[in-house]
Amino acid sequence: MLWVRIVFMEKVKLKAVRERLGAMVDALASFVFPEICFVCGRLSRKPICADCLNSFPLITGPKCARCGKPTALAVPECRECRGRGFKFVTAEAAGRYDGSLKEAIHILKYCNGKRLSRQMAELVTSGIDERLMSADVLTFVPMTRGKEAKRGYNQAELLASDIGSLLGRKALPLLLRNRAFKPQSELSFDERRRNVRNAFEAVRPVRGRVLLIDDVYTTGSTVSECARALKRAGAVEVMVATVARTVID
Ligand SMILES: [Zn+2]
Ligand SMILES: [Zn+2]
Repeated sequence: MLWVRIVFMEKVKLKAVRERLGAMVDALASFVFPEICFVCGRLSRKPICADCLNSFPLITGPKCARCGKPTALAVPECRECRGRGFKFVTAEAAGRYDGSLKEAIHILKYCNGKRLSRQMAELVTSGIDERLMSADVLTFVPMTRGKEAKRGYNQAELLASDIGSLLGRKALPLLLRNRAFKPQSELSFDERRRNVRNAFEAVRPVRGRVLLIDDVYTTGSTVSECARALKRAGAVEVMVATVARTVID
């Protein structure tokens, strides 16, 4: 029966070794991968893992120079923005508001803005046009005070601050949302335009060229109204950069 005891002892030792190894692997994993990806839930060194970043539907091809809509050929204005009288000179989005990028923006907006904004800001600055990079100052689309207090942060402000630090520019709160209005997502195209009309005002005089930051560009009505207020306050021109853009083909 001696061999039975030897085999049993070996098994016990092996189990102990395996347990110790397991603990070491866990410790190493938590050192190398200190958190999980907020988008897919897998282990990751950063809040958004490399796989999710690579899966984002980025806008890389030709687009409309005015509103940033992807187009077959590069155009100065497209069917969507022609005749709209936008108060900004150009708008650019890093990607389409779709798939994994849409999920990431949802997380940025509603639960973990502070953790995700740096990587989202990197996404914006990595493909940004030189014209936008040369802005004198950055600002962001404000929320109503009540909404911001409820959420605890304004994701556009977090993005502006991170994009500003990446570009070596200041991000300042230049605008105020001076009345509560209906959420834009519940309204039609024309209603959106009327809904935000004169909803913003500048809180101080504005100088030079301004880069206005928001998370998503939908119809351009909100950023155009912000641009109107900034120009009224003295901005020479207003450019817009967002993480994503809705694209209706
Ligand atoms: Zn992921
Ligand atoms: Zn356009």
